Amino acid sequence: MAKVGFIGLGNMGGPMAANLVKAGHDVTGFDLTEDLVNKLERDGGSPAISVAEASAGAEFIFTMLPAGKQVEIVYGSDTGVFSNARPGATLVDCSTIDVATARRVVQAAAKKGYSMLDAPVSGGVTGAIGGTLTFMVGGSEVAFAAAEPMLRIMGKTIVHAGKAGNGQAAKICNNMILGISMIGVSEAFALADRLELDRQKLFDIASTASGQCWSLTSYCPVPGPVPASPANRDYAAGFTAAMMLKDLNLANEASKATGASTPLGSLAGQLYNMYCNEGHQDVDFSGIFKFLSAAND
Ligand code: NAD
Repeated sequence: MAKVGFIGLGNMGGPMAANLVKAGHDVTGFDLTEDLVNKLERDGGSPAISVAEASAGAEFIFTMLPAGKQVEIVYGSDTGVFSNARPGATLVDCSTIDVATARRVVQAAAKKGYSMLDAPVSGGVTGAIGGTLTFMVGGSEVAFAAAEPMLRIMGKTIVHAGKAGNGQAAKICNNMILGISMIGVSEAFALADRLELDRQKLFDIASTASGQCWSLTSYCPVPGPVPASPANRDYAAGFTAAMMLKDLNLANEASKATGASTPLGSLAGQLYNMYCNEGHQDVDFSGIFKFLSAAND
């Protein structure tokens, strides 16, 4: 049994921490929202009233926070993880943040003598609850070897992507593919409607032809062909449009910083920005089909 600190107990962090508790670990959790700390306590964890308390004495400290700004504060502030973790603790940030901040925080950790990994996830809330997340991990072999057994409790696929920041790099590249492909699939269905081609027929053909992709076959943005997709529940969010916009913004910032040419990633970001600005930020990201389809009217 390991002593674990878990900071950020929201939609993702809450169930991830609960899975560590279920596996028999001694988890102390903190979140700015007290209700979430109480929920962890009901799940069998211990409540903390601060980052410092959650960090103290822990062999592993996990964070699952909204963005880079919170990650820098939680680790680096005077009352943060670096000032309170025990020597030798392994630090694992699972938040999705920009690569530059991830690398900066890992460097700061190293200066304080801690091994740290960036380990963002895909798989959403369902994966967090089910312990089936995919972890994309950046950092040293030693830190990866130490954290892997813990990650295996929360996830099904664990990939060591290389040096610090590479987990975040993999995450934003993957989600750029996802944003672009969701728009591509949505545009194809919007065009099919205009051409009076039945949606199911397009699905039956494209899903077994060269148009095949996850956005089509697992997360189809029109109701019908894939019963489990959010389109069948009026686009109630699995993964919100706001989160997709966040990840596309991270990809576009990284493109600018490195000089990569990603025109479709940039355009996908603009379209999701327009979609969110129309008040759809909490809708599932596949709801962009309705927006693109309406643009044809
Ligand atoms: P969330 O907003 O539900 O949870 C984040 C939690 O962090 C909140 O409860 C908030 O109170 C807490 N927090 C913020 N600042 C804090 C601080 N200083 N100290 C302690 N707690 C603090 O968000 P989420 O959906 O759980 O997402 C978390 C991260 O996971 C994000 O980076 C997101 O991009 C990523 N992610 C989310 C999903 C998803 O489907 N929700 C999927 C993959 C990745």
